Amino acid sequence: MQCPFCGHDSSVTETRVAPDGVRRRRVCGSCKRRFTTYERVGSPGLRVEKRDGDVEPFDSDKLTRALERITRHRPALRPDDLRRVARDVEAALIDTGQRTTSWARIARLVLDRLTPIDRVAAARLRVNYLDDDGRLRLEDAEPPGQEPPQLGLFEGEVVVDPARPAE
Ligand SMILES: [Zn+2]
Repeated sequence: MQCPFCGHDSSVTETRVAPDGVRRRRVCGSCKRRFTTYERVGSPGLRVEKRDGDVEPFDSDKLTRALERITRHRPALRPDDLRRVARDVEAALIDTGQRTTSWARIARLVLDRLTPIDRVAAARLRVNYLDDDGRLRLEDAEPPGQEPPQLGLFEGEVVVDPARPAE
């Protein structure tokens, strides 16, 4: 995007997804002035590859709800934390410039953001909700009555090192 002051190319310094759109902070490569642009929600049109090769629209609310279910035994994690994780992930995906993404990339982005907030929740996600190819399996976070395997991950007890790849 061209700088509104001098017309030179600008670069993005920060992308945030807000309820009403995508906000980008930019800095001009020439005059170094900073400015902010807005894009309406929906314009990114992000899609995710499903395991059967089909694609579906990326839905950050769906990701938020799944994260809430995955982390429901972690009361210290606030709904706002998870919403922010989902929106930051969406922003990072938009920044790649690719229309279609994978659940493996989403999983890595989620873990990057969740680990500093709650290491145990991130470890639980890594152990219980990734498939062999590292793809996030949101359907495993769906409710109907079944508790996911716990593998000894409880409050205050760090069993799995999130820095280590899942088995
Ligand atoms: Zn400029």
